[in-house]
Amino acid sequence: MKQREENVNIKEKNRVFLLFILYNPLGFMLQYNAKISVLGGEKGMINRFLEIIEDSSRIVFFGGAGVSTESGIPDFRGEGGLYGLVPEQMISHSYFVSHPDRFYEFYRTKMIYPEARPNNAHKALAYLEEKGKMLSVITQNIDGLHQQAGSKTVRELHGSVHRNYCMRCGKFYDVTHILNSDTVPVCECGGTVKPDVVLYEEPLDSSILNAAIRDISECDTLIVGGTSLAVYPAAGLINYFCGKYLVLINKSPTPADRMADLVIRENIGEVMGKILQEKK
Ligand SMILES: [Zn+2]
Repeated sequence: MKQREENVNIKEKNRVFLLFILYNPLGFMLQYNAKISVLGGEKGMINRFLEIIEDSSRIVFFGGAGVSTESGIPDFRGEGGLYGLVPEQMISHSYFVSHPDRFYEFYRTKMIYPEARPNNAHKALAYLEEKGKMLSVITQNIDGLHQQAGSKTVRELHGSVHRNYCMRCGKFYDVTHILNSDTVPVCECGGTVKPDVVLYEEPLDSSILNAAIRDISECDTLIVGGTSLAVYPAAGLINYFCGKYLVLINKSPTPADRMADLVIRENIGEVMGKILQEKK
């Protein structure tokens, strides 16, 4: 069963990688005829960013771990693991099955941040949705901060710590049940409760992935923030974009910088926060 799941996962990865290879090279880059802003002119770039937002009516935001770090949630990949393992091994499907107690020891302390609150990036996106300018937020984060800020259409590619299900009867449990369990959280029926989070070795939910692809292919502006775009599926997803403006907001360079209309290497909360200023 595990082997089969891994095979499916690998097949899916290969498929997306193939799409990436097919669509990404030169032709795609030339299409964009990049109009990258020169670094240093921060004020000019922010003004350009606000103009783009003004000129857009179907925005998609695609975000990674960097969106949540400003809310005090560290990127778990930068955290140390336990028992001589790296985080990616500790939150894998096979480790959950073989060592659920150790899995939860790591998961409870390094993946759940009940005190975290939305920052200006989350708030600005909720505000844009309220104004009718957003198609959706697509996120790789599992913290639920976009919904906490008020966003309604959120595609959670990797699931959410706020949803947990009994593996035997399917009963739903919220995050407090996980936090209040000393070891492996169990259901009243005796079954093990599993987070609705995509673990390593597990495939993404295809309906969420398809909705994300549809939104990216239909939006007029794609804002990518807080992700280095180095890993699957982020790298492949943005190749479905064929709208007007591609904006990248990330502190370090990404492989997609050359395709972008605007690249801003600043804190995402600070940049997105400028959108909120018109609210006052
Ligand atoms: Zn149950």
